[in-house]
Amino acid sequence: MAIMAWRQTRSRVAPVAMDGEQFRALGHDLVERIARFLDGIDEHPVTPAETVGAVRELLRADAGLPVTGTDMRALLSRTAEMLFDHSLHNGHPRFYGYVTSSAAPVGILGDLLAAAVNANVGAWKLSPMATEIEVQTVRWIAELLGYPTDCGGLLVSGGNAANITCLLAARAAKAGWDVRKQGMAAGERLCVYASQETHTWVQKAADVAGLGTDSIRWIAPDDRQRMDMTALAAQYEKDVAAGYRPILVAGSAGTVSTGAVDPLPAMAAFCRERDLWFHVDGAYGAFAAIVETAPDDLRGLALADSIAVDPHKWLYAPLEAGCALVRDVAALRNAFSYHPPYYSFDGEVTNYYDLGPQNSRGFRALKVWLALQQAGADGYREMIAEDMALARRMYELAAAHPELQALTHNLSITTFRYVPAELRGRAGEPETEEYLNALNQKLQAEIEASGEAFFSNAVVDGKYALRMCVVNFRTSVEDVEVLPELVVRLGRKVDGGRG
Ligand SMILES: *Cc1c(COP(=O)(O)O)cnc(C)c1O
Repeated sequence: MAIMAWRQTRSRVAPVAMDGEQFRALGHDLVERIARFLDGIDEHPVTPAETVGAVRELLRADAGLPVTGTDMRALLSRTAEMLFDHSLHNGHPRFYGYVTSSAAPVGILGDLLAAAVNANVGAWKLSPMATEIEVQTVRWIAELLGYPTDCGGLLVSGGNAANITCLLAARAAKAGWDVRKQGMAAGERLCVYASQETHTWVQKAADVAGLGTDSIRWIAPDDRQRMDMTALAAQYEKDVAAGYRPILVAGSAGTVSTGAVDPLPAMAAFCRERDLWFHVDGAYGAFAAIVETAPDDLRGLALADSIAVDPHKWLYAPLEAGCALVRDVAALRNAFSYHPPYYSFDGEVTNYYDLGPQNSRGFRALKVWLALQQAGADGYREMIAEDMALARRMYELAAAHPELQALTHNLSITTFRYVPAELRGRAGEPETEEYLNALNQKLQAEIEASGEAFFSNAVVDGKYALRMCVVNFRTSVEDVEVLPELVVRLGRKVDGGRG
């Protein structure tokens, strides 16, 4: 009764306000459009491959800021159509580029619900239920990976943010002086180790952390694109002799180019003997650890001081959702916590502003938490195993085709290239290799422009390769079995331009 009375006294009608009736009508209409879009996603080209000019014209990109308000019904429907028809669809079953997954529909609903509640997951008091859901999500993610479930962790924007968060935790723990207060100049020169196959997060992290990119020791990989332990040990000895203070070794649980898994248990032992922080970038591949046939080296995840993972990759969460896990929650707190006079929050509960660089935080955990329950651990094991099997199938198809050359297969990434029949015998000769590199680069663009499939690329032992990565629960074997014909058809067309 009191609330009703209170409502009736409100006279303000704000320009962004909506009453329930309006919200319901617009919402139902939008959900209907989204449902139709998802049902027909495979009828769109994977990408419309339009020019920048065409996209800007459609948007009327140089229009000025509206001074007065606009009717939302027309704008929402126009915006939805604009996005559906002029986007690259990573939810398309034949999208195989980069490491970008299809978004689980329940995650779309989760983001809607999270925005509706608008929880500020920076402090427990501001988001009691949301904070506890995030705590549970972090624990479930650790459990999936076989990582200690009493670890610290938090959701961040993605793999880069997760890796940077972990490197900052390592820096505070291993520098040997109060680096947060005194800065980098107050102590010895620090250095970190990573293989040359490591994603560019490591440059950004070294930069953001004040170490500088010169502090990165790039170890040449072995012939399977993995960290070379002998080269790592040699570089370490050299640095110690030269007066550097090594603090961290970063391994990859699935490199971004070829999906190679570093020898994580050996790297963990190396770090333990030398009191170094062992970090694993598992943004792409760490969740493969739940699959029985995954590389044994993934068991080394359990030994890491910190792990970066990416729920917006192999957990199929809509962007953005990354997650940083740190074995000892105190190390996260020691890297980020300050206690300003304007916060008087209870120390007995999780206040996420204490564990990371953000202050106000959105509720990224919800979409992940919902999908983990929709599928369960068994559901994820099945989906990830199937993605891996589809990439293996592509490797087999490429290996069996007279005009394709299979190069690598790890986790759910396969690299291969088109080699015209008459050049097959001459592959390896410098001139032929140069031609094949140019040919496959053009072929990649040709496939993209066709809208029939989308690959990114890798360079494997100097060979420009088409790279197929499956983190896509919509892809099925039919979407893979059409690929050799498509690649060879367009490959012949591009090669036909040869003099
Ligand atoms: C994707 C990826 C990253 C970066 O993650 P974002 O979510 O794009 O920030 C880092 N490392 C690897 C191995 C990746 O695959």
